[in-house]
Amino acid sequence: MADIAALKQELVTANRILAKENVLDSFGHITVRHPEKPNHFFMSRARAPEVLDEGDILEMTLEGVVVGPTPSPGKPYSERFIHGAIFEARPDVMAVVHNHSPSVIPFTVTGKKMRPIMHMCAPIGNDIPTWDIRTKFGDTNLLVTNMDMGRDLAKALGPRTVSLMRGHGSVVVGKSIREVVFTSIYMEKNADMLIKALTIGGGEVMYLSDGEVEINTRGRAGFTLERGWENWCNKVERPYVSQDWDMGPGFSKTDK
Ligand code: MN
Repeated sequence: MADIAALKQELVTANRILAKENVLDSFGHITVRHPEKPNHFFMSRARAPEVLDEGDILEMTLEGVVVGPTPSPGKPYSERFIHGAIFEARPDVMAVVHNHSPSVIPFTVTGKKMRPIMHMCAPIGNDIPTWDIRTKFGDTNLLVTNMDMGRDLAKALGPRTVSLMRGHGSVVVGKSIREVVFTSIYMEKNADMLIKALTIGGGEVMYLSDGEVEINTRGRAGFTLERGWENWCNKVERPYVSQDWDMGPGFSKTDK
């Protein structure tokens, strides 16, 4: 049986880390799919990621209806449909981040494509679409506030890891909380470095090749995720719970 209390604790830690690392501010969210009920997921009530705790975590259906024996007080995030629609479209996805990561925004409103320029950032992929809410829904407040909008965004994301959202932010998906946190942090770093590279390079930048992206994404083993996660937990003074990972022949966990 899955340890739901530990999962909620990790979700709170992820919120704190993403706030500390400049991915979330007072807004944006991270969710995790229920490990035993794939049609449910966990998400905080509408509260700033840096201050929420385990008592704020709600369980909800993919359609955004709060369930569970003791739902926390307060309202859910209005953009919970982003997460439900992606979990619905992507059975392989276990965790989703929606953010307004500041260095990423310029790439949502210009013709400049965001692509990885550094090996740690490879998991964002070389093919990042930009979803524009106006294409289907006209002038709005740009928020994804129902399942129709969420499903349209999920369609734009397709099988990828990242989709930008014009004039708003992005979504990042992964197979675990730790993976999606890692990708989100390195997407913000990539965007910041890419803006600088475009500036000093006069617009000319050498991006990672498709082959380099593939090799570096495949090579992002548990070890790499764990080293980052341990460090980020320390920075936000949250408990680090180590996970088993396969270091390959000749190595053990103590070699980290
Ligand atoms: Mn938003």
